[in-house]
Amino acid sequence: MTESLSNDNLEYISENTKRIKEEIAEAAVRSGRSPKDVKLLAVTKMVEPQKINYAIEKCGIDLIGENKVQELLSKSEQLIEGNFEKHLIGHLQRNKVKKIVSAVNMIQSVDSVRLADEISRVSASLSVSTNILLQINIGKEQSKTGFSVEELEENLHEISLFDNISVKGLMAIPPICEKETELNKYFENMYRIFVDIKAKKYDNICMDILSMGMSGDYINAVINGSNLVRIGSAIFGARIY
Ligand SMILES: *Cc1c(COP(=O)(O)O)cnc(C)c1O
Repeated sequence: MTESLSNDNLEYISENTKRIKEEIAEAAVRSGRSPKDVKLLAVTKMVEPQKINYAIEKCGIDLIGENKVQELLSKSEQLIEGNFEKHLIGHLQRNKVKKIVSAVNMIQSVDSVRLADEISRVSASLSVSTNILLQINIGKEQSKTGFSVEELEENLHEISLFDNISVKGLMAIPPICEKETELNKYFENMYRIFVDIKAKKYDNICMDILSMGMSGDYINAVINGSNLVRIGSAIFGARIY
């Protein structure tokens, strides 16, 4: 039943990726960095494996992200073998940690101390160390998970003591903003927190990655210091739920 998609039909993915990479490069330069300092993660939720494979093979995508454990695992089997990384970017329940740890290169959505603890325990049982980002609920929204800035400060020391996780940075999704100035404030705020923590030099906590920016706001995010943008619909088209 599923009609095979010809590469002609997929060319838009290549065009979108090319344009987005140029825009990211420009924004990186505007913020005093080099284009190679900002990474593009293609968000592949709801996207068929064939399109993901095209993005990896033909568009130079080397980092993909899924927000659901089950979808990530079932799609992984249908992806080409290749040199690309997989990140989990959506909320993770503690009872699914066992399934995901060995299937991804990073968990960006660590939103509680208990989850960090569980990831460390499972990683220890597999003799691995798992790269994670701490998710910050920068707008203190009820609808989003993540640490508030205060909680982050209170808990960083405890998180730094977990042996089998490696904290690589922060991730955030700002609230939907009507005004660009308001949006920029959230991004600026995140950048400030990122730099502050970096300056404190906690053992076992490195602040290399600041993951922020999606299809609607990646240019603002990069201008304000993001070095990893997570882009779905602007690459693959609108998701049909
Ligand atoms: C879906 C999703 C994105 C990408 O959203 P787009 O607006 O399609 O670019 C980024 N980050 C997270 C955590 C997501 O769930």
